[in-house]
Amino acid sequence: MSKRRLDMDDGKDIKPKKKFDIVPDGTPLPPPDFSAPASVPAPDLRQPMMSRNPLTGQAYSQRYYEILKKRFGLPVYEHKANFMEVLAKNQFLVLVGETGSGKTTQIPQWCVEFVRANPEPNKKRGVACTQPRRVAAMSVAQRVSEEMDVQLGQEVGYSIRFEDCSGPRTLMKYMTDGMLLREGMSDPLLDNYGIIVLDEAHERTLSTDILMGLLKEVAKQRPTLKIVIMSATLDAGKFQDYFEKAPLIMVPGRTYPVEIFYTPEPEKDYLEAAIRTVIQIHMCEETEGDILLFLTGQEEIDDACRRIKKEVDNLGQEIGELKCIPLYSTLPPNMQQRIFESAPAKRANGAIGRKCVVSTNIAETSLTIDGVVYVIDPGFAKQKVYNPRIRVESLLVSPISKASAQQRAGRAGRTRPGKCFRLYTEKAYKSEMQEQTYPEILRSNLGSVVLQLKKLGIDDLVHFDFMDPPAPETLMRALELLNYLGALDDEGELTQLGQMMAEFPLDPQLAKMVIASCDYNCSNEILSITAMLSVPQCFVRPGEVRKQADEARMRFAHVDGDHLTLLNVYHAFKQCQENQGWCFDNFVNYRTMKNADNVREQLVRIMDRFNLPKLSTDFSSRDYYINIRKALISGFFMQVAHLERSGHYLTVKDNQVVQLHPSTTLDHKPEWVVYNEFVLTTKNYIRTCTDVKPEWLLQLSPQYYDMKNFPECEGKRQLVQIKSKLDSSQYRRGF
Ligand code: ADP
Ligand code: MG
Repeated sequence: MSKRRLDMDDGKDIKPKKKFDIVPDGTPLPPPDFSAPASVPAPDLRQPMMSRNPLTGQAYSQRYYEILKKRFGLPVYEHKANFMEVLAKNQFLVLVGETGSGKTTQIPQWCVEFVRANPEPNKKRGVACTQPRRVAAMSVAQRVSEEMDVQLGQEVGYSIRFEDCSGPRTLMKYMTDGMLLREGMSDPLLDNYGIIVLDEAHERTLSTDILMGLLKEVAKQRPTLKIVIMSATLDAGKFQDYFEKAPLIMVPGRTYPVEIFYTPEPEKDYLEAAIRTVIQIHMCEETEGDILLFLTGQEEIDDACRRIKKEVDNLGQEIGELKCIPLYSTLPPNMQQRIFESAPAKRANGAIGRKCVVSTNIAETSLTIDGVVYVIDPGFAKQKVYNPRIRVESLLVSPISKASAQQRAGRAGRTRPGKCFRLYTEKAYKSEMQEQTYPEILRSNLGSVVLQLKKLGIDDLVHFDFMDPPAPETLMRALELLNYLGALDDEGELTQLGQMMAEFPLDPQLAKMVIASCDYNCSNEILSITAMLSVPQCFVRPGEVRKQADEARMRFAHVDGDHLTLLNVYHAFKQCQENQGWCFDNFVNYRTMKNADNVREQLVRIMDRFNLPKLSTDFSSRDYYINIRKALISGFFMQVAHLERSGHYLTVKDNQVVQLHPSTTLDHKPEWVVYNEFVLTTKNYIRTCTDVKPEWLLQLSPQYYDMKNFPECEGKRQLVQIKSKLDSSQYRRGF
């Protein structure tokens, strides 16, 4: 095996220093497919070239033709005739194609052609294409509206949680898989669609898995409905088998060999190693080409972008310009589009300019970034894990699978031969990484899903045709949670409350809290808090001014805890008339606040539909905050922790040792707290915590706080004492 040295630079000295070796593993990706045409093929004459858009009746724009030329060059185009034929003859169809071959943007357009050419009497049916990620749904809808030369939101639209950008004219809707599942609740036969495309099926998200089971059922009842399953990886057999031996269309992509490099020793700090590698590639690689670095989340990505920029700036004008572009799901759409910008030009001294996209897993298959030649793969991603025993679901930075690593490497070979730098050892790849990522359904809390399935009329969960059935214990936990919340009765039937809860696009606990808040005279405030909990963290903490930012945050602090702090922020935002400057001055993210406001509005609409009143307790009353805190318990009584004498918290019943998350605005340790989230890192944290009273727990959820099935602990002893006091006072009052 040939060894190759790449010199690493620490950024302070232009002269590169050797930091680590990267060894090629000698097994590059498959050679390019020479059967694919190298140049743009002639336009497909089977498709008549029209000068007017049949959808709008308007003449096509210049831009339409420019994009069209590019579209004809995509690998899928050669398979169009075959696709249309197989689609016409079959109800199910599996299509596998390399990332970037044109699946997501082109196939749904062909489906639109198909439904328009084969109308059903008295039905106007469109095409739905599901995406696991909101970013992809929005970005692809934007692109396809341009390709079809229509306005986004008209003929082509998208629908994601809390945002529907579609209308009565919409024929082609990109949507998250979760949203299609939601549509199924009000329209069980999905009558709006003639064809449903499940994209990125290989990701096996929770919602895609449920959808597959559901669509199998719907397809039996609607013989004209067609289902297309698209995947970027080759294990199509499983999908074909599941969908009654569906035919397969393979689209070989134009992939070039990718040389793989490993670190000889494990990296202690992958972030630092990644930044070093970016700088090194930028300085030392002699061919043009952009860099794609995979990291795990927003904060890490923003941090990396800042650090890379600083290092490059320090190196001066000798080296080329490097444009760092972050990519993660909560980025605003116009920022996401930056990944399609071209790389900076060469400098006068010939130094190569590059763009460096620093992305989460989105760039693994969901979005294709053209021009990438160098991929840096530290081998980690944020993944959901669920432990049913202690009922904790958490996002954890964990090692990726081999399949993921291969996808990542493949991103380097889209336009010409590329290189992938794996920041882990070859041994780790071969012997430590698992083959495939486990489907999400095996790693999730199923509370929300079970509620939705019940609402969809699927009662027999045990016999539901899951592609991979979840663990029985996980299903039991979900049923138990929904029963405690009052969504399911003791027979497991959906209650009226459960029916209502399912209509809210929220976790069952939040939905319950919103509905129950009417009884506590504080639905206005609980709606605001719920909206704030449904958007990313609203406080910004830029590295350079972290101290000021933290001080600003503390100005919003409420003595009883974080939920009320969030309420303070929301109220302040409304009071200043949603002023952008105010947000900036107070280290509050303006866009997040606008989002929260939008979420709140949508929740209000659902409340109105059910005639749930919007109420507030008189602000001067001492019950104003007490009522809100009680309403929190009505949804989150299972997420409570007790402060032990030893100084740490213990979660109720599950007895997990936890600490208040450092971001809390609480300045003391209340004896009992309700928390919104369990965060697993090096320690167990509970995040977004509010002080509650033990007697409320006993009074508001006597079923859960039934001392008969409560493990022994300090908290229990206290609860038992309070309970006997309460009982005797009630007894006395009874006379
Ligand atoms: P696949 O789904 O097979 O991975 P896509 O249909 O998403 O492929 O993308 C095909 C090609 O379309 C990409 O390689 C890229 O060149 C182009 N493309 C997609 N989205 C955009 C966009 N927003 N801007 C410019 N080009 C795009
Ligand atoms: Mg795609």
